This record gives sequence, structure tokens and C-alpha cells, in this order.
Amino acid sequence: MIDPATLLQSLVAIPSVSGAEAAIADFLAGLLGETFEVHRHGDNLYFELGHRGPRLLLVSHLDTVPPCEGWSADPLKPWWTGDRLFGLGANDAKGCVGALVLAALALQGRARELGARAVFAFTTGEEVGGKGIQELLPALGHLDAAVVGEPTGLTVCTAQRGMLLLRCVARGRAAHVAHAHLGENAVHKAARDIARIDALRFEPHLLLG
Ligand SMILES: [Zn+2]
Repeated sequence: MIDPATLLQSLVAIPSVSGAEAAIADFLAGLLGETFEVHRHGDNLYFELGHRGPRLLLVSHLDTVPPCEGWSADPLKPWWTGDRLFGLGANDAKGCVGALVLAALALQGRARELGARAVFAFTTGEEVGGKGIQELLPALGHLDAAVVGEPTGLTVCTAQRGMLLLRCVARGRAAHVAHAHLGENAVHKAARDIARIDALRFEPHLLLG
């Protein structure tokens, strides 16, 4: 079986910024295709172990954000410092992807012992709104539970912060500068709305604050 360090290094060495996951999907489909019947939807991959019992989804994402400023070395050329691997996506979420791959390989041939079905999925576009999992979900069929691989320091997290995105348009009315009182300034309207949004207060969440 491929060792964890080699697997993680290989995954990090393949650039996979959101929207450009084909190469890493090819790599994983090749690796997993030797052992499992891997299905591919776009660059999303999944396969299933076990034949009966509840279906548990084990999922993580293939994509990364683009490299940002401030790296001390090329983030697409993974390097080791002691027993730690550095590179774009090493933590989020290629560590999780590698762990899921190794879990699947460890379970190979033991499907009958599971008493459940394990659906492994590797998705695209997580960093830009979760497009991949949304495309894949209908193909995955009924699921009883899901574990999402994300870097949480091995703490089980049962809640996730949401995001409120507002797309706003402010409309004004044009007027000659000599008759400005007849017009309506869209910038002023927008500024008042931005101040209102800033003043919104939400109930604190039990787990998330
Ligand atoms: Zn992530």
C-alpha cells in the first residue's frame, strides 16, 4: 500500500485550484481505479464499499484556494520540515483526502465485515461554494450520515458557520447639477444600506458564538 507521506506529497505536488481539478482527479482515479470501481462526474470521484446496511458518506475536497502572498517557498513544490509537509493544500484538505484514500484501501476486501456501506467521495469546487458536492449528491443516492474531512485538529465538529451573501443594487435618478434636489443619489442610498447591514445583529449560536 502507498505510504501516507508519499501519498500526501504526491497530492500536494499536483496543483488543484478550484476549477482546475482534472489532474488531481486523474491521479486519484488512476490510484483508486486499481482497487475500486471509481465513478467520475466531471472531476468529482466516488466509489462504494459494502453491500448492505446504512450508507455512510466519507467526503473531502480536492480543490484549494489560489496561492496567496507570503509563502516563504513555492507552495506548489511540497517540502518537509522534520515530519511536517508544507505546501498549498497540505492541510486543507489533501491531508484529509490522503487519510480517506488510506482508510478505503485498509477496508478493501473487508466489505462484508463492515455491516454498513461506506461511500467515499472526493469533490471539486469546495472553496468556491461547494459546486462539486452539489453536482454529486443526486448520483450518490440515499445517505444515512456523512463525515466531512476538514482540518479540525481531529476534533469532531458538528456545526459550521454559514455565510450571508447579499447582492444589492442601488438605483438613483439622474439630474442636472443645477437641479440636484430633483435627483436621487444612488451612492448615498447604498451607503445607508451598508450602514444598516453593519448594524444587523444575530443571535449567538450555541456552538459557534
Ligand atoms: Zn477545506
